[in-house]
Amino acid sequence: MNIFVNRPVNGLIEAPRRVAAGDLEPAGSRYSHDEIGQLARSFDAMTVDLAKARAELNEWAETLEQRVERKREQLRQADARAMAAAQMATVGKLAASVAHEINNPLAGIRTYARLLLRRLSAQGSLPADEAALEGLSLIESESARCGEIVKHLLQYSRPGTEQMADSDLNQLAREAARLIQHQTQVQNLRFQVELTPELPRVRCHPQEIKQMLLALLINACEASREGGGLFLRTRPGADGYACRLEVADEGCGMSPDIADRIFEPFFTTKEAGKGVGLGLAVVAQIVRRHGGRILVDTSPGHGATFTIDLPATPPEDPPSDARGGPDGA
Ligand code: ADP
Repeated sequence: MNIFVNRPVNGLIEAPRRVAAGDLEPAGSRYSHDEIGQLARSFDAMTVDLAKARAELNEWAETLEQRVERKREQLRQADARAMAAAQMATVGKLAASVAHEINNPLAGIRTYARLLLRRLSAQGSLPADEAALEGLSLIESESARCGEIVKHLLQYSRPGTEQMADSDLNQLAREAARLIQHQTQVQNLRFQVELTPELPRVRCHPQEIKQMLLALLINACEASREGGGLFLRTRPGADGYACRLEVADEGCGMSPDIADRIFEPFFTTKEAGKGVGLGLAVVAQIVRRHGGRILVDTSPGHGATFTIDLPATPPEDPPSDARGGPDGA
């Protein structure tokens, strides 16, 4: 008789010890129908609840760790971007003052080169003049190129003076496509323009948006091989933005190290004389002024897709960085 009473009681003494040692498995024994059995059942139920609570706590601890890690990473990225933005602001100021200084003498050089060219051409081209004519036209074209660089620098450092207008992005995309058409034919590219009908109108600087698309399309052409695909798309907005623009190519693509730096002013992988490294810095500036974001999806040998998201109306005070994270955050 003593054995029958002691067995459940012994179980009850053993159970708290197991729980204290961290074992939260219910005893699973058959319960007697008396008060001791009820006590054992309640104890087991409590153990199950405890196990559940412990699992939840563990899960929370893990989620919290992941969240802290994610926040830390976001802070690190924000910090790096703030540094880059400050650096860009300094470069911008420097660029503006240098560009102003250079602009006038440059215009003078071009004008005189043109004048001399015209005068020499009018005199009839003697053999000796051929070399002079060639030299002058080189001065003219090279100073025109410098003029372009200065124009880019000024665009980069100075907010646009153009009026904002409610614009049809499809129309702007069509105009940009028309401007690049010739180049795509020369390179024999498969150029596809895919426009989503009935996009909401976007309040923007139309010239700047066109200039941005053109810069992306020119880069895409330069990265493409003969016969490659080039795509210009308009899409409905995502993530709270009104509209999306996409420029994609099937060209050489970029490694992550390069893709990380392409929006920095003066970053270029092109040989001297071909690239200045300001195209994408200006693009990022334009996107920033419009309160949008720009993302790039690329890998070496697999082309590049630039995605620009624009809000219906730019904010009064645009954010200092337009680059979205890899997940579009
Ligand atoms: P630039 O064209 O004068 O070099 P950008 O600022 O326009 O200056 O571009 C910076 C760099 O980004 C380029 O030198 C190139 O390495 C890279 N890049 C830009 N667009 C593409 C693209 N579509 N495919 C591959 N690389 C690209």
